[in-house]
Amino acid sequence: MTSKQIQTIRTRDDLFRMISQIRQKRSTIGFVPTMGALHEGHLSLVRESKQQCDFTVVSIFVNPTQFSPDEDLDQYPRPLDNDLQLLQQEGVDLVFLPDNQELYPADCSTSIKPPLVAGKLEGESRPTHFAGVATVVLKLLNLTQCDIAYFGQKDYQQVKVVQHLVRDLNHPSKIVMCPIARAEDGLALSSRNIYLSAEERQIATCLNRTLQETMQMIAEGETDGRAIMAHMTQALIEGGVTETDYAVIADAESLEFLEQVSRPAVLLVAAMVGETRLIDNCLIT
Ligand code: AMP
Repeated sequence: MTSKQIQTIRTRDDLFRMISQIRQKRSTIGFVPTMGALHEGHLSLVRESKQQCDFTVVSIFVNPTQFSPDEDLDQYPRPLDNDLQLLQQEGVDLVFLPDNQELYPADCSTSIKPPLVAGKLEGESRPTHFAGVATVVLKLLNLTQCDIAYFGQKDYQQVKVVQHLVRDLNHPSKIVMCPIARAEDGLALSSRNIYLSAEERQIATCLNRTLQETMQMIAEGETDGRAIMAHMTQALIEGGVTETDYAVIADAESLEFLEQVSRPAVLLVAAMVGETRLIDNCLIT
């Protein structure tokens, strides 16, 4: 644990100044964008950046443009002091803490039309979500001028959206996807897990269980995409979810539904457990 106070910056101008100093030293910059309420999943991204880069920047910003009006923007947890303590323990070099005004000034009217891969799955349930994600991620990549940005496989479609975004717009940052950090019982860690009651927390384990069972089914020779989807949907219902949003097998790059299993593929699920929407996924390589 380092005793040095962690450095925080709140404005774009201060960040630009700081980053240009780092750049002059020819240090490599790693960047981990987050919405805070940090857990081991976020910290695993930070550790990856610390290993691979000279200087690690973490942003904490609950991005309003990726929430729809019926989502939990106001309730979203914001335990800032605890987050800063965790980041200090990890030896993070700089935390960027912009407010809404800083990233979306009153006269700011430019936004990103997200790539095609944003249109399905999460994009169907949350039509404006990825435009908000793509816009804020591009703003943050530009501000941090990072060599590498780290994203979690937990939000697999988000990783694809960001990879396609940087490819399509020739952004120089490299995008690295880090594995899903899970609780001991397999539940993917998420800042939203705190919304779950004790009973819902138990039910929530069925998302990962469903993925594991389905992986087993595929390993044993199942190749029919529709049978796989039907199995996942049934397993989620039996597991007690309130509602299944999607449960699919898709091409790992385009996220197109696969009638027949081919590799690499990805199993993706989204379900409501009580009032809480949970997602999980598993790669088939
Ligand atoms: P969020 O704060 O939810 O926007 O997440 C910030 C980053 O942490 C995103 O790249 C997420 O995919 C990643 N992340 C969230 N949960 C996990 C997890 N359980 N394992 C790995 N990465 C995660």
